Amino acid sequence: MPLKHLHPQPEPRTARASSRKTIPGPRRILIRLLSACNLHCHYCWDHSSLTPGPALPAHMVDLNTVKNILDSAARWDTEKIILSGNGEPTLHPDFDAIVAYADKKRLALELLTNGTFPLKQLPLMARIKSISVNLSAANKNAYKRLQHPNAPHLFDNVITNLGTLARMHQKYRQPELHLVFIVTRPSYPHIPDILALAKNMGIPSVLFKRFSPTPATRSLSLTDMDHRHLTALINEQLLQSWPLTHNLGNFQPPLKKSSRVTHIACLAGWTELSVEADKRVGFCCCTTSDLYVGDLKTNSLEEIWYGSAAERLRNYCRSGINLKKHPRCRECPPYRYDKLSRHP
Ligand code: SF4
Ligand code: SF4
Repeated sequence: MPLKHLHPQPEPRTARASSRKTIPGPRRILIRLLSACNLHCHYCWDHSSLTPGPALPAHMVDLNTVKNILDSAARWDTEKIILSGNGEPTLHPDFDAIVAYADKKRLALELLTNGTFPLKQLPLMARIKSISVNLSAANKNAYKRLQHPNAPHLFDNVITNLGTLARMHQKYRQPELHLVFIVTRPSYPHIPDILALAKNMGIPSVLFKRFSPTPATRSLSLTDMDHRHLTALINEQLLQSWPLTHNLGNFQPPLKKSSRVTHIACLAGWTELSVEADKRVGFCCCTTSDLYVGDLKTNSLEEIWYGSAAERLRNYCRSGINLKKHPRCRECPPYRYDKLSRHP
């Protein structure tokens, strides 16, 4: 495929990247509502059962701060608010009030959840535009191994919720529903099972996501041999016609460490904002400590977006992120093929 087809499409916000004009607000804002989770997915950056040491410090974005973010988003005409977490967002004690406030402001919500929420929250889900449910196991045994060693019964909750959401989607077309499967060494052989499960449940879309390891979870990364098996398995699935959409046809391995690309250009700072559970603000969802541009404890979202730290980081990202300093950018699918990528 010619490289130009892999570039993010230019849009009014990123078009300003080449000028000095004031840019409008972000197109998408991701809010990590809290740091707590009720699962321990193997592949998780924050709660993996493979990660030694104490649990993540407890942080939560309070309701007032979320309302201020949503007010800014309404002024900016932001297209989408993504509710996520360094944990499970539906565990936020004010989750219902947050959804109601976004609804009142006519903001489109996307929810990233593990799908274990209680039945009583289901009616709320009808007010959310798009829901992505992280399920990387097609049965209770795999769930126990990969997502929660001590509470496999939560798998039943997820299946019940998915079934109801799928019926809601079929009847009302809302919420859009995606099942998200993280492709790791132990999970990839189950790709056919998860597609079959989605088909049987009437789930309209399955998104396969590449796994991004931490030092503690590196053993879950695919080996070269796994990559070969995975490619064969993907080709097998692509030969079948599924009554759902999936992205296996575009599923690409991350940029290899041995790749000669040393820098990649990124325009995320013109379109994205991400608020962490501890209220630090960055551009993309993969921020590492030095890619933050402000803190809602001391500044408003507008002050941060138009501030000098944000401008400095935009310029750095546009001229080329150093992959040695920011290895997670190696895993980033939308921007890594940018034509500004540099080789030694
Ligand atoms: S559900 Fe999400 S936040 Fe919770 S352990 Fe799994 S990957 Fe981590
Ligand atoms: S290239 Fe890096 S900074 Fe840009 S969006 Fe991807 S992970 Fe974020």
